[in-house]
Amino acid sequence: MKSVAVFCGSNPGKDPVYAEETRAAGRLIAERGLTLVYGGGHRGLMGAAADAALAAGGQVHGVITEALKSREMMHAGIQVCEVVETMAERKHRFAELADAFLVLPGGIGTLEEVFDMWSRAQLQGLNKPIGILNTKDFYLPQIQMIDRMIEEGFLPEAQRKWVAVSKDAGDLLDWLANFQFSPVSKWL
Ligand code: AMP
Repeated sequence: MKSVAVFCGSNPGKDPVYAEETRAAGRLIAERGLTLVYGGGHRGLMGAAADAALAAGGQVHGVITEALKSREMMHAGIQVCEVVETMAERKHRFAELADAFLVLPGGIGTLEEVFDMWSRAQLQGLNKPIGILNTKDFYLPQIQMIDRMIEEGFLPEAQRKWVAVSKDAGDLLDWLANFQFSPVSKWL
């Protein structure tokens, strides 16, 4: 594993613990010599992750759209910032550039990115794992929803193996680095 895409909120969240945990994750990514790939903005948790990785001497590669450059305040300090035309292209680049995905708390953009990457694995063979940092049990409702999909026969249980959930970013990075992909049929 050489690079990790971080998906997280473009808002900071109300509780300062979200930014603290995000900075810790960004720092760890840099300390492990991994490139942090992300949405290229300077707002919210996204900016906090990038700032922490840079402060720890890491490499940060942003991918932002022309339309979002000012709205999400394109980060001026990162080593690489690609500007693409569409959100679809932006996600396509995340899928190409990252060896794994780390998901931190966020809003609907964050959720959309995670489920987009997971459904690419399901349908198009993207063999890259997803780690979910479950600070303050933020992702509990989504995890319960996924369990329900499995229970009710809409998601093969084996696909859960592509996703890990933890409150410890270091454990998640270890898991992502050691992950071995095994293909599973979408249809039960
Ligand atoms: P949010 O979690 O809503 O704060 O958004 C986090 C990131 O996801 C931001 O960079 C958003 O621009 C991005 N985003 C929002 N909507 C989408 C979408 N439909 N597809 C991809 N990324 C999105």
